[in-house]
This record gives sequence, C-alpha cells and structure tokens, in this order.
Amino acid sequence: MQIKQNLLRQIPSVDEILKHKVIGNLLVKHPRRLVVSAIRKILDKQRKKVLKGEIYTLNQEEILTQIKTEVEQREKNHLKRVINATGVVVHTNLGRSLLAETVIEHLVEVARYYNNLEYDLDEGKRGSRYSHIEPLLCELTGAEAAMVVNNNAGAVFLTLNTLAYGKKVVISRGQLVEIGGSFRIPDVMAHSGAILVEVGTTNRTHLYDYENAIDEDTAILMKAHTSNYKIIGFTKEVPLEELVTLAHKHDLIAYEDLGSGNFVDFSKHGLEKEPTVQEVMAAGVDVVSFSGDKLLGGPQAGIILGKKKYIEQIKKNPLNRALRIDKFTLAALESTLKLYRDEEQAIKEIPTLRLIFVSQEILRQRAQRLRRYFKRHFKTEDLSVTIKPDISRVGGGALPTQELPTFVVGIKPARLSVSKLEERLRFTEPPLIGRIEEDMFLLDVRTIQDEDLKLIPTVIKNALAG
Ligand SMILES: *Cc1c(COP(=O)(O)O)cnc(C)c1O
Repeated sequence: MQIKQNLLRQIPSVDEILKHKVIGNLLVKHPRRLVVSAIRKILDKQRKKVLKGEIYTLNQEEILTQIKTEVEQREKNHLKRVINATGVVVHTNLGRSLLAETVIEHLVEVARYYNNLEYDLDEGKRGSRYSHIEPLLCELTGAEAAMVVNNNAGAVFLTLNTLAYGKKVVISRGQLVEIGGSFRIPDVMAHSGAILVEVGTTNRTHLYDYENAIDEDTAILMKAHTSNYKIIGFTKEVPLEELVTLAHKHDLIAYEDLGSGNFVDFSKHGLEKEPTVQEVMAAGVDVVSFSGDKLLGGPQAGIILGKKKYIEQIKKNPLNRALRIDKFTLAALESTLKLYRDEEQAIKEIPTLRLIFVSQEILRQRAQRLRRYFKRHFKTEDLSVTIKPDISRVGGGALPTQELPTFVVGIKPARLSVSKLEERLRFTEPPLIGRIEEDMFLLDVRTIQDEDLKLIPTVIKNALAG
C-alpha cells in the first residue's frame, strides 16, 4: 500500500511533463490540445497500472516515449487504406466497392468546386437533387421514376413507411432475411410502422398463401431477395410475375427488395444467375430497391425505382430528409451509372465487376509476380512461399454460393508464428488483411491491386521486424 502511495506521488503532473524537451519538440509540430490530451491519457494509464500493482518503478523515459507514440498515432488518419488480400470482392468490413477512376475524378470536382446540386441551370431557379440521376436510372432500367437514399436499409424503411404505414405487408417466411449488422426485415418493418404478415413455410410458399392472407388492410405484397443465402432441396417460391399479377388483381403494390441489385446478367458471363434490375422492372413490379455499393459497384446508396405515383410519395415523405444523399454520393452514383451505358466498359472500369470477372490467367500471372517479389526480398529458409489454387467469394451478401476460382500465395515465416504475423500485419502501413489456413498466411491475389503487389514484401518485412 505504502509503495503504491509513493509511486502515485511520483507520477509527474501534466505541467511538469510539458516542460520536458521531448514534449517541447512535439509542441512544435502538433497542436497543444492534442499533446495535453495524450499526456493525460498516458499518465492516467500509469496511475491505473500502479493501482493494479502492475508496475513497481516509474520510468520517465518510457512515459515520454509513450506520449510521443500516442500523439503520432492520433495524428494519423484513423480511417485509412488497407490491402485487401482476402479475395472477398465486396468486403463489408473493408469498405465494400472500390470506385472507378472517372467516378473518383467526379468526386474530386464536386468536392473542390461549387456545383448545381439543387440548382436548375435551365430555369435559373431551385432544382431537385434527384434530377442528376433519375433520368439516367430510368434510361438504364426501364423504370418510370427513381430516387436514391443513404443506403438500401434506408430505402426499405422509407418505402414501407411511405406505402404501408399502419397497413399489412405480406411476405414469405423463407424471405425474412437478416443481412448482418442487425438488419432484419421483420425489425425494419416493425420500425417503419408496417404490419408484417408472414405466409408459407421456410422452404415452400405458394401463390394461394399470399392470396389467403390478403384483406382490406393489406397494402403490399413484398418479396425480399434472399441475397446472402439459398434455400435448396424441396422448395417453392412464387415467381415474381405471378406475385405481381396477384397484387394488381387486388389493387395492391408489388414491392421487391432486391438487396444487391445488378445491371449485368452474371449468367451470361459463366456465373450463377441473379435476376437483373431490368428483368425485375420488366416483370411489372411497382417498386424495387437495392444497394449502390454491392454488385453495382458504386457508392453507398439505396436506389428506389418504380411507378411514378409511388416514387413521388416516397420523395415527399418527411423522413426522406433524414435519409437523403449528399453531393458526393450523387456524383459517384451518376458517374458509375453512366458507365453502364456500355456493358463492356462497365466491366472494364468498375472495380467490383472487374475483380469478379478477372481471368484465371491474369490471376495466375499476378500470383507468380508476387512470388517473384518475395524471392527477391527473402531467402527461402526465412520465408517459405507457395502458390495454390483456391476460391474467392463475391461477398457483400451477393451470389452467396458462387465460387470464384483464384490463386493464393501462401507464406510461412521461419521464425514467427503465422498468427503473430497476421496480428502484426494489422499494424503495418498500410495494414495487410489476409487469412490463415493450414498454418499459412494466404494472400488471395484477386483483390490485391496491381500497384500494391510490389509493396507487399516490404510490408511483410516490416511486420517480421516487429
Ligand atoms: C444488403 C441488403 C440490404 C441493405 O442494404 P445496405 O445498402 O447495406 O443498407 C437490404 N436488403 C437486402 C436483401 C440486402 O441484401
């Protein structure tokens, strides 16, 4: 007890620390309030360590070093680039879709200059922010009208709140999706004020299940695309066209939450079939919603398409103001959508599509290049390097069963455990995120950008050095 009291008394005050030369140097380069806040944090840490009996002497030198490190750490951007070596293309934890170069240029322009966000240049008066993307969305999908909100969860919420507040929404039990991050269709529906009516069973739902559930309080027949799972075996889903016909027979709205939403037909490129937005619109659905940053490969956004009378109502909902998109989203979305006028161009320029469709040959070459770089930087006895075929995933809750053949480079250091390497790689500049399998650290070259390949051996070297 006595020792602790003594130690506590020895902990310097903030003012004493501030007089130190090391700190003086820090104050030249960094704002005073940052330095003071870092000092407080480190001193507090020392105090807690003393109280817990974790230290028996105070090391002034070490305290100063810790303060310096803390300041430098806090001056760095906390949100920063990482190298994605997971092979998951639309990785929700790593920022989902990368943007195309023309999109990035558009973003910079809008950031640097004033723009016509809500100014109608033709009329010289106030305009609508949706005017920049609505005609484009209609042109690309055949929809009558369109609008965009912050994300697809917001789109689902706003659609239900506008069109089914206090009314019933009929949906199949097999489609009550949870997409992670606690977004569950039943919960969103409850919060929107709509009343959920589940019909059918998990694996089978028939048209008569919907029909039997309809009464005077029903507003919507809803379909949620089961984007992140598949129910296989003895199953029955009502085709969209039949659901639409039934809805219209009863004067109801047919609404599909497509989840990912893609304009390109993946089955034409040798992948599994996902209904395209155009196909869903052609089936006569009244309202469709989907994400901007999943398979579409644009910015985070929730796109809502459909019949003009419904879209107008959704636009007018006061809650829309709380979910509205900003100028950056609009710019990025407009530029991304424009690329879809030419599918070949879209596949070439939109990173998400490019990474999904990249050829085996290119992946093989990329893996071999990475191995060459490793050989140049490391002796075989220090780091073993192997290439093997593996599987990448699309991610983002899209094409859940699609396997994308790829090549991974597996590395194993001689003098450090693979798990320790993985941990250290999270603290390199930039951090390198991969996965461990069979006591190897695997780098899937699909999601590694070409310019990053060269960087990787140095990053690994820094990690091994500690
Ligand atoms: C991803 C997804 C959403 C939510 O979209 P966000 O853009 O992440 O908000 C909603 N519904 C389905 C079916 C989804 O797959």
